[in-house]
Amino acid sequence: MSEATRTTDILVSEVGPRDGLQSVASIMPLDAKKAWIAAEAAAGVTEIEVGSFVPARVLPQLADTAEVVAFARTIPGLTVAVLVPNLKGAQAAIAAGAHKITLPLSVSETHSLANLRRTHAQVLEEAAQIAAAIAALPVADRPHFEGSLSTVFGCTLEGAIPDAQVARLAEGLMAAGCDEIGLSDTTGYADPRAVRHIIRLVRGVVGAGAVTGIHLHNTRGLGLANVLAGLEEGLTTFDASLGGLGGCPFAPGASGNIVTEDLVFMLEAMGLSTGIDLDRLNAVRDIVMAAIPDEDMYGFVPAAGLPLGFIPATRKDRTV
Ligand code: ZN
Repeated sequence: MSEATRTTDILVSEVGPRDGLQSVASIMPLDAKKAWIAAEAAAGVTEIEVGSFVPARVLPQLADTAEVVAFARTIPGLTVAVLVPNLKGAQAAIAAGAHKITLPLSVSETHSLANLRRTHAQVLEEAAQIAAAIAALPVADRPHFEGSLSTVFGCTLEGAIPDAQVARLAEGLMAAGCDEIGLSDTTGYADPRAVRHIIRLVRGVVGAGAVTGIHLHNTRGLGLANVLAGLEEGLTTFDASLGGLGGCPFAPGASGNIVTEDLVFMLEAMGLSTGIDLDRLNAVRDIVMAAIPDEDMYGFVPAAGLPLGFIPATRKDRTV
């Protein structure tokens, strides 16, 4: 393998500024968000979900998302991702210049009604309108549009969701004009076998090229085991949150999202290059902790340190 020309093997997508911050009571000042995002990008992170375009009364923690997007766009090489609940949010994301827009569709209709007050048909219609708004833009300005199947591993209100329903909704999102289907373990119900099953199920209807990433939680301690299953199925993008910020409402002391630092360590140890410098990544925790000192940060690798003689895959690439 030509090491000099080798690019990263796995994309670690940081979602802490969105998923982490929306789950904590503290409101991080805009300047701290900017410092966090800049420092993670400098550590080698190339995609960050920086916020969500939801009404400020719903999530005051993310009220400054447009300003965060505007700043993040100035960082060379960084893909600036955002979550949107509907067309209105997507229009705001487009106006702000986000590179990637994710629309969640809860495969549990009960959950969809409870959270977004939308039926499946209404969310699919919203997806079609977002796709049309994107298609109306000049090609160079079009953001990547992901439809994300949330609660795809099970719902706290409905339990397991039938395969046929998951397949139908994945197909519906692609038919509406999404570029890609995301898989999201919103409830932390996934296990490695379920991860393999859902990836194969959804790829079976939309094609392997339309399913490349997964959003996993560590609610029941299976986050990294589930990543391994996703890797073995050929996924190349994994979401994670620095310090597991946000915690888990069901399991005090446990992180909610997968901890970015632990995920990067696992991948690099396995010889999979992420392009991320672990020492610099660990140092970013100080920025977050200083800005929101009342919140907990998690992570085994930051606590234990790196093994003696550890050589990450990314550094091998750079020095060979
Ligand atoms: Zn999440």
